[in-house]
Amino acid sequence: MSVVGFDFGNLQSKIAVARNRGIDVICNEVSNRTTPSLVSFGPKNRYLGEAAKTQEISNFKNTVGSLKRLICYAFQDSELHEVEKQYINAELVDEKGQVAVKVQYHGEQRVFTATQLVAMYFTKLKDITSAELKIPVSDVVISVPGWFTDAQRRRILDAAEVAGLNCLRLLNDTSAAALGYGITKTDLPEDKPRNVVFVDIGYSSYSVAIVSFLKGQLTVKSTAYDRHLGGRNFDQILIDHFTEVFKEKYKIDIKSNSKALFRLRTGVEKLKKVLSANAQAPINVESIMNDIDVSAILSRDEFEKLVEHLLERIEGPLEQAFKDSGLSLEDIHSVEVVGGSTRIPAVKERISKFFGQELKYTLNQDEAVARGCALQCAILSPVFKVREFNVQDIIPYPIKITWNKIPEIPDEDSELVVFPRSNNIPSTKILTFYRKEPFDIEAYYSEPDKIPSTGPWIENAKPPSNPPVKKVKKLVKKGDLPITSCHNGLDKSVITQFKELEVQMIVSDKLVADTETQKNALEEYVYDTRSKVETIYSEYVNPNVKDKFLQLLNDTESWLYDEGEDASKSVYVEKFDQLKTYGGPIAERYREAEERPKAEQSLRESI
Ligand code: ATP
Ligand code: MG
Repeated sequence: MSVVGFDFGNLQSKIAVARNRGIDVICNEVSNRTTPSLVSFGPKNRYLGEAAKTQEISNFKNTVGSLKRLICYAFQDSELHEVEKQYINAELVDEKGQVAVKVQYHGEQRVFTATQLVAMYFTKLKDITSAELKIPVSDVVISVPGWFTDAQRRRILDAAEVAGLNCLRLLNDTSAAALGYGITKTDLPEDKPRNVVFVDIGYSSYSVAIVSFLKGQLTVKSTAYDRHLGGRNFDQILIDHFTEVFKEKYKIDIKSNSKALFRLRTGVEKLKKVLSANAQAPINVESIMNDIDVSAILSRDEFEKLVEHLLERIEGPLEQAFKDSGLSLEDIHSVEVVGGSTRIPAVKERISKFFGQELKYTLNQDEAVARGCALQCAILSPVFKVREFNVQDIIPYPIKITWNKIPEIPDEDSELVVFPRSNNIPSTKILTFYRKEPFDIEAYYSEPDKIPSTGPWIENAKPPSNPPVKKVKKLVKKGDLPITSCHNGLDKSVITQFKELEVQMIVSDKLVADTETQKNALEEYVYDTRSKVETIYSEYVNPNVKDKFLQLLNDTESWLYDEGEDASKSVYVEKFDQLKTYGGPIAERYREAEERPKAEQSLRESI
């Protein structure tokens, strides 16, 4: 059984596994420890992760990123159109309230919902993991931003299910980092808690959590977020800046050309990273548009001036989390930072200044969240022995329960905030109702204007037709109380349908990959055998056969570049077998002749 953690990032994801008594972050098929969170559609197959990145620029409209954001929104959400859209190249469409994209796939126009897109990407992460572990992968823990609502979390769980994963738990990014921290520290106090601040600034989002550690347990005391502050905001400022610079210098308008804009985006990200370690950095983009090469230089000071208004936003969430924690500055033991954008020196300075102490880098900035998820999976899994570590998280938004009043109890309230903001989870609340007839209880976020998405496509929130029966213990009399529950995750039938489609696409992708492998094998056989027939095989080939065989090899080569360019797998296999009826015996005679002296030699030695 596999023990796996996914840090599902909006830009890139990281995978950690538990094995050999430890946690390893694993590499993908091109040996990278992070995998681009991208899916792309082609005329024959899908491209997932690295493959999508490789052909992103040539297949712009059919490549989709920001998957973690797309799955957050309902189509009607204004943030989707005002904020998110600028980062998406594919066409967004409304699929019964869900966000979906319209792409060209298999030569036809297709619509895929955000849930399906995330499921496709999870399929890729699953493949990378099972290729590394050499076993099928099912159990996994996946990270989500702490500000995700219940509806958003359910969508991630739905996507995992479509990808055939068994998601044992969703873990908040900063709680995952905190778990990784806590479980490896052997010196945690038994009585007076150690309070550590965790700050994660990634590609699109910024989270802070203040966490109290005691031996064997962590309790999240407070959290705060800026859902719209991350590396991409810094990139955007640089894009605006260089668009102006290049307009002046080269008389071109980068923003009028989406490919030029893409090239600039790649260029400024590189420049930004170089600036994190150097006082100045160049940007050079060849042939950005109209065959013009552009170049410029930016100093770190200039960069910091340009992004000053973003840097000013660092303090807000720190202040809020600190205030809500009820702690004083002396109570803060240390400040740990994770996420790619905390590498920006000015960002580090702001955080460090707020708490009046140097930052700590105990955790691997890129891998801490994935490691924490794998650890959580190990704790939940029966196959792996890990030190017990209890995680007490908190809810980011208050939850209220509402019910209908009945005439018999006229002064009864009809709603109650049962879990205020920052209430610990898991936790239980007992409410008593005096009712003879069936009644409804509904749970809502009590401050809907504070939650990030208006979210649910309510039509899915229908009770199932066969209500499960839950046994309830009463004080004096035991009875069965039928409870029907519903939530705004996807309907089971929709998940089943998505699952079937996903399996079909996996099979179709595999066929395309196998066909390519078979074609390459045929091509290689033609070149390799032809040169051998003229050299090392020559004395083992009957002269009559030789000409015929060479002719067949040449014909196959021509065919491969002509109508055989795009044949089916079985045709490649057939051609290969045909060549082998000639080549096989020749190779065999050659091999025997090679082996004979060696065999004679060892026979002689053994006598
Ligand atoms: P999110 O957590 O928002 O979903 P993510 O987990 O995919 O996103 P990370 O991998 O934590 O994001 O960080 C990626 C971001 O970090 C990118 O914007 C990247 O440009 C930025 N980044 C990485 N290295 C550096 C660096 N040396 N200097 C500045 N920024 C960097
Ligand atoms: Mg992240």
